[in-house]
Amino acid sequence: MPKVIYLDNNATTAVAPEVREAMMPFLTDLYGNPSSIHTFGGQVAAHVEDAREALADLLGAHPSEIIFASCGTESDNTAILSALASYPERRHLITTRVEHPAVLNLCQSLAQGGAGKTGYRLTLLPVDAQGMLDLGALESALDDDTALVSVMWANNETGVLFPVEEIGELCRRRGVLFHTDAVQVVGKIPINLAEMPIDMLSLSGHKWHAPKGVGALWVRRGTRFSPLLRGGHQEHNRRGGTESVPLVVGLGKAASFVKRHLAEEQTRVRALRDRLEKGLLATCPDARLNGHPARRVPNTSNISFEYVEGESILLMLDQHGICASSGSACTTGSLEPSHVLRAMGVPYTAAHGSIRFSLSVYTTEEEVDTVLEVLPPIIRRLREISPFGRQAAAART
Ligand code: PLP
Repeated sequence: MPKVIYLDNNATTAVAPEVREAMMPFLTDLYGNPSSIHTFGGQVAAHVEDAREALADLLGAHPSEIIFASCGTESDNTAILSALASYPERRHLITTRVEHPAVLNLCQSLAQGGAGKTGYRLTLLPVDAQGMLDLGALESALDDDTALVSVMWANNETGVLFPVEEIGELCRRRGVLFHTDAVQVVGKIPINLAEMPIDMLSLSGHKWHAPKGVGALWVRRGTRFSPLLRGGHQEHNRRGGTESVPLVVGLGKAASFVKRHLAEEQTRVRALRDRLEKGLLATCPDARLNGHPARRVPNTSNISFEYVEGESILLMLDQHGICASSGSACTTGSLEPSHVLRAMGVPYTAAHGSIRFSLSVYTTEEEVDTVLEVLPPIIRRLREISPFGRQAAAART
């Protein structure tokens, strides 16, 4: 395998070797069905329950509150549709303009009569220039008709953290369910759900060194719940379908892996991220940070390099084996800036040249220094061939 400098950990992460190892017996000898009555199945079921306990321990939750799922998207969809099914008389949903499509697309489709639902209203909360949520707007949007508030804990593009505690308090006061998409915070900051005013939380293993294809929904005990997948009695009748035992065991192992590395994430990973960010902002003129400088997860930095295309930067980084991602997506042939940066009012010329760097516990200082060496000349070269870049350079001289 070619050696890469992998700074795209918000997209997905490397599976930790200890996670891979823990999964192997369940791909070979321990293949029993955890729902089976025989001892062989029971042995496997015990490992599923160990994984549930490890995840609960990471979250400060009770194991019975955890429902394993296939991914973050399934978990988000389950939470939202469960809230609507549990409160059928309520017809109002609140979320933000900067959610991941796993939440945003479902909510928008519900407001347009999708998923067999009609008559739903949707409020999309705005953010300011630093990507911070307007809590006043949330307070005035909440009404007796609100079935659910779904607000992400951290944004996947900027890393900005939303004040989930305050949001939860506002919801509690109005008797409204609060779901948070925590896909980008688990494993990056400490979480103690026992002390948080949150009712449901979604997570996805592949963002923190578990394999792809496994996630979970946490539902606080006593919260009304309606399953998305109806079938067998698995997960205490809350999600039909035989659990993917190897993946669930991997998720449990990854939970203890990231718990062990939480302090390192807060110190070493944060320091590396800051070194990269400060270095790039100091050496590249017309570069700006997108998102609140302090209220962010420790591993993420989103930087705009004005007057150049993010895609061009990524391609040139790729030639050096450096993986990052851009804040624009190529749709129907036109490069549309991300909905997150647009919601923050990032100017067009900056939004197009935005790059997200996301680090992990596997990122090294040498890797960061290589990016600091390689990227500034790339930006200079791209600006020389950009008409906007040449104009800006001429205006500076
Ligand atoms: N929510 C957020 C904030 C994400 O970043 C992602 C993935 O990028 C998802 C949901 C979807 O997770 P999954 O890929 O596991 O479906």
